[in-house]
Amino acid sequence: MANWDFVLKFIICGDAAVGKSSLLVRLTDQRFLVNPDPTLGVEFGSKLIYIPEEDKTVKLQCWDTAGTESFRSITRSYYRGFNNVRTWLGDVREHADPNLTCILVGNKVDLCESGTIKREVMTEEGEAWAKENNMLFVEASAKSGQNVELAFFTASRDILDKVKRGV
Ligand code: GDP
Repeated sequence: MANWDFVLKFIICGDAAVGKSSLLVRLTDQRFLVNPDPTLGVEFGSKLIYIPEEDKTVKLQCWDTAGTESFRSITRSYYRGFNNVRTWLGDVREHADPNLTCILVGNKVDLCESGTIKREVMTEEGEAWAKENNMLFVEASAKSGQNVELAFFTASRDILDKVKRGV
């Protein structure tokens, strides 16, 4: 018998170099690659997590959309704010079920915390934007591991809650 109650599928999308592969590697393999080969995007990973509130174990199946970003103009990455996220979200909403759970992950938060770079988006702005767009939000770091599991945990809990409510 399977040792999980649900299989949940995640797709990680976003601009090139935001850390999609790194988040996947951190989640499924508890490591961080300092210089990952961008052409060798990690494509798939899975992990079991337990959701105590629901007393359920879920199997996360995660796909990284490595490579697809090249279809988008790279210069757009340099705009401040949420322009690119809006575009990605638009793609997702266009193709997915309207009830899909989406979580906005502000990755590389370690760089802000160490003062290596100046923060472009305040936490509250990220939270507010996500809320307006019916998304969950978490700031994370694939490098330190901070909040990476939490991001998937939060989204999984939301999905199980929808299942329970029959949404
Ligand atoms: P992808 O193209 O979105 O899959 O991005 P990658 O996972 O290949 O990461 C792009 C670069 O950002 C690599 O040099 C990573 O080592 C680096 N990176 C990814 N996540 C983090 C993070 O949380 N903190 C820091 N400091 N660097 C990161």
